[in-house]
Amino acid sequence: MERHVPAAIRSGEIRVWYQPQVDCYTGKVIGAEALCRWKHAKLGWVSPGEFIPVLEEAGLIYELDLYVWDRVCRDLQRWNREGKRRSVSVNLSRFDIRANPDIAGFFRDLLRSYDLTPDQFRIEITETFYVENSAILISTTEQLRAFGFRVEMDDFGSGYSSLHMLKEVPVNRIKLDLHFLTASGDMEKSRTIVSYMVQMIRSLDIEILAEGVETAEQARFLRSRGCSEMQGYYFFKPMPEEEYDKLSEFTEPITG
Ligand code: C2E
Ligand code: MG
Ligand code: MG
Repeated sequence: MERHVPAAIRSGEIRVWYQPQVDCYTGKVIGAEALCRWKHAKLGWVSPGEFIPVLEEAGLIYELDLYVWDRVCRDLQRWNREGKRRSVSVNLSRFDIRANPDIAGFFRDLLRSYDLTPDQFRIEITETFYVENSAILISTTEQLRAFGFRVEMDDFGSGYSSLHMLKEVPVNRIKLDLHFLTASGDMEKSRTIVSYMVQMIRSLDIEILAEGVETAEQARFLRSRGCSEMQGYYFFKPMPEEEYDKLSEFTEPITG
């Protein structure tokens, strides 16, 4: 698989898709996460859950992410020109930081070269990386913030969600992973945990977005707890850029 990555990027087998994020109070699309998709000539659709870890191991994730970030910047620039100013969240692997220790400076230059402002680029870093590599990730986050980028802690709730990290890491937003929190076990306990997490994160003055929202019931529950930003199959699945382009700015809000 790893041998084919450069060719797959060149030939367009690997593409960037967008999953819209919504504010459930208004139904407004507030952003999107860039997620790559690989339609392999022989294997068909290969999920990022399978190939991202392989690429990370093979030292190739940076190459893929360079392509993804560039593609996102091109799309953002085009939308700006069309008068549709948007912002996009991209995933940053800890191997990207290893490959380029000045990743903050790199992003600053990249965005400048496309005439974009840093607030249009949100950088997602997985919770687990923060716990494993806290010193480097905290300093990277500080640098990114100093340059005006928004930083988000991805998959919160899926690993050893460290309360200490919440205190130490200056992230703008936390992406609460509903899938891990509600996939199994006692639902009443899951709801209590989610409820208090939302309350705690908001009290810390950190923004919160729930990801993996699959049902109206989940959306209504989150809304009732004061979490308004959501991403998940209930609203939209990841979609190719052409489809995201045509998407209307509003969807149905969640009521009561
Ligand atoms: P992630 O960053 O946490 O992205 C969210 C994942 O949840 C995506 O999986 C998305 O398709 C999926 N998802 C969204 N809504 C729902 C839902 O309602 N239910 C369920 N069950 N799943 C939902 P995807 O696209 O398969 O990506 C998996 C992971 O691979 C991502 O998790 C991210 O960590 C990584 N990844 C994807 N694209 C890239 C990339 O371009 N670069 C890097 N470094 N990592 C990437
Ligand atoms: Mg992510
Ligand atoms: Mg996530």
